[in-house]
Amino acid sequence: MTKKLYIKTYGCQMNVYDSERMSDVLAAQGFAPTEVAEDADLVILNTCHIREKAAEKVYSDLGRLRAAGGPEGRLIAVGGCVAQAEGAEIRTRAPFVDIVFGPQTYHRLADMVERASRGQAVVETDFPTEAKFDHLPAATGRRGHTAFVAVQEGCDKFCTFCVVPYTRGAEYSRPAGAILDEIRALAVDGVREVMLLGQNVNAYHGAAPDGARGPAGDWTLARLARAIAEIDGIARIRYTTSHPRDMGGDLILAHRDLPQLMPYLHLPVQSGSDRILKAMNRKHTAEDYLRIVDRLREVRPDMAMSGDFIVGFPGETDADFEATMRLVERVGYALAYSFKYSPRPGTPAADLEDQVPEDVKSERLQRLQDLLSAQQRAFNASMTGRRLPVLLERPGRHAGQMVGRSPYMQAVVVDAPAEAAGRMVEVDIDTVNSFSLNGRITGGEWPPAEIVTGNGRIAVSAGVVS
Ligand code: SF4
Repeated sequence: MTKKLYIKTYGCQMNVYDSERMSDVLAAQGFAPTEVAEDADLVILNTCHIREKAAEKVYSDLGRLRAAGGPEGRLIAVGGCVAQAEGAEIRTRAPFVDIVFGPQTYHRLADMVERASRGQAVVETDFPTEAKFDHLPAATGRRGHTAFVAVQEGCDKFCTFCVVPYTRGAEYSRPAGAILDEIRALAVDGVREVMLLGQNVNAYHGAAPDGARGPAGDWTLARLARAIAEIDGIARIRYTTSHPRDMGGDLILAHRDLPQLMPYLHLPVQSGSDRILKAMNRKHTAEDYLRIVDRLREVRPDMAMSGDFIVGFPGETDADFEATMRLVERVGYALAYSFKYSPRPGTPAADLEDQVPEDVKSERLQRLQDLLSAQQRAFNASMTGRRLPVLLERPGRHAGQMVGRSPYMQAVVVDAPAEAAGRMVEVDIDTVNSFSLNGRITGGEWPPAEIVTGNGRIAVSAGVVS
């Protein structure tokens, strides 16, 4: 009998990817997804530890789940970074939780579920010696025309505010051959765009497809992107999240050479002050960052930037904050995420004295967000009258409309039939709204041009022969 699985995903794209893979692992055990938590035989909370009070939010969600009830024998599991950080403490505070598992152990979920259904309490938060990715089944089911592909995981940078090195462990890069096989299979399934994921994705250094390792053998992210660009059907490549230290010359040149590599890069800097960057252990200066942005724009003039900022890091003075504002003005972001610093237990910065008062943090955040919002509005407005390549993804709100993505991740609404999904089209942008661009298809893979070939068969412009 089919059992029902409900997964609630918190946080980043890596967690979204992990949840999909958990679903793949459990599909082999007869679990099918449900959207209703109360119907599920197995509920998984795939948690994130980045935001403030992350653990408390998980405990209150657990309380709600318990109160809502579920089928006889229902199992509750907590996975992800909060599970890794809290470990057995979760079962002390919420004894009705059956399984606690870290982000590196979910390839063993089938075994954990089996043990839990026999009444065993399961806590698996060790970093296993075997590589998780070697033990995951092939991805199942079609996931539209864009797909996440994890290529790297973990982090050795130890920024003083961040929990990732403690919850995800040391950097690990998947072998290039396995990644290319996965993307070839996705392309056969209709995927046109891949988002390569990793906590430090541009630190990627995986074994070459022939198995060669070491500095001479390992592939960099640039090398991997060049190989992906040769896979038939893959029209777009993106990657996130990058660290300025790993933005090597070969990766910058790949942006010059590969039209598939999108001219939109999320490159967090966190602060514009060298003093604060040092206290954060970022291992780069503001000038290093600006040099990378300049170089990227030199080789790819249409490159747009996205970033992350933390305001009110311990010891941040008015002058430090003004340095951040100057950096933002100099870069001009298409989009950016900004947060007030809040201490994460177990990280070095949590113990620093000289914490910035809350009202000062709030005032600085407001000023920074005003500037970033103005830049985002200006960037979107600059799309009016431009011709953009758009990957059509899904039907729009109104009949006869489709929504796609621009190279800069903006939603673009056009008139097109549902069968145009998955096609790359050229769109002339007429109007810009708060959340989307509107335009007209002027070329590309839709409508398909019919050409009668020599043998009398009909070919269409998108390369499909019918
Ligand atoms: S590089 Fe990113 S993931 Fe690694 S410690 Fe710093 S902020 Fe965290």
